[in-house]
Amino acid sequence: MTGKDIFLAIDWGGTFLKIGIFRNSRLWLRENIHSRSLSSPAGFYPYFKNILSGFAQKHKFSLGRIKSAGIGIPGMLDINKGLIYYLPNIKGWKNYKFRQNFEKNLGMPVFIDNDANMAALAELKFGRAKGVNTAICLTLGTGIGFGLIIGGRVYRGCRASAAEGGHLPIDFNAGKCGCGSYGCAEVFLGSKGFLAKVKSEMQVRKTVLKKEPVLTPYKIYEAARHRDKFALDMWEYFGRILGIYLSGLVNIFNPEKIILGGGLSGAYNFFIDPLRKTLQQRAMFPLYRQVKISRAYFAEDAGLYGAYALAKNGYENI
Ligand SMILES: [Zn+2]
Repeated sequence: MTGKDIFLAIDWGGTFLKIGIFRNSRLWLRENIHSRSLSSPAGFYPYFKNILSGFAQKHKFSLGRIKSAGIGIPGMLDINKGLIYYLPNIKGWKNYKFRQNFEKNLGMPVFIDNDANMAALAELKFGRAKGVNTAICLTLGTGIGFGLIIGGRVYRGCRASAAEGGHLPIDFNAGKCGCGSYGCAEVFLGSKGFLAKVKSEMQVRKTVLKKEPVLTPYKIYEAARHRDKFALDMWEYFGRILGIYLSGLVNIFNPEKIILGGGLSGAYNFFIDPLRKTLQQRAMFPLYRQVKISRAYFAEDAGLYGAYALAKNGYENI
């Protein structure tokens, strides 16, 4: 086959950077590398070129066949300028002209976007938001990845940094958030905040979790699966506060769908009932009746599939 029929997709996370090569609309080749190894632009391109050359050699294709690249970046961007303002968890990229440098070094067009938008784009193009006009996509992990679909397109605001919904303040008395503000939704709903709450509550309760040397959301999920009353209560609490948060968003956006992904969504069955109940109590009638809640289609690779859709379609035709 000749011509440019291959796309490069990159999902840049705080811990791992995932690289995917898509051919015939499928994820063909992939590799995960530690984001630490890419802490500065100087090291980024040689490392990257190496990986791409390795792929090309092993699988016998020419790098010239890559039509374009799409990349989800975990930070503040200006997509019009192709600029990274900063990455909260990775130093060394402040005010960096990413697009220009990437294109110069790797010789292919690149489209950049916020990483949470990529998860929403993946659901819109290939997952549970297909054909949906208005949807909210949450990735529940260390933080809250937030993507908004309005008018059947990912909403980016004026420069791609819109929809930082994890940093919607929901408690004006509460503690400091990683973003520098106070009482953001992420302080309560991010796994760190949730774990802190569980640790403090378990002091005065009976639970198998007390035996765990390191507490993780997965351990709390496992305990709930074994009907540990305390663990079940904590997921109920999580569903309730997620419901309170979502009720505000439902009132604003009147979405058709809310799609929940990310690590904590693994406990969906333990928190969905209290979430629905709270939404019914807190969101306005009839908005809560019009919204369907579902788990995300993508468990692991939302970022890669979103970046692929971005590489293929650019910003305009999505
Ligand atoms: Zn915040």
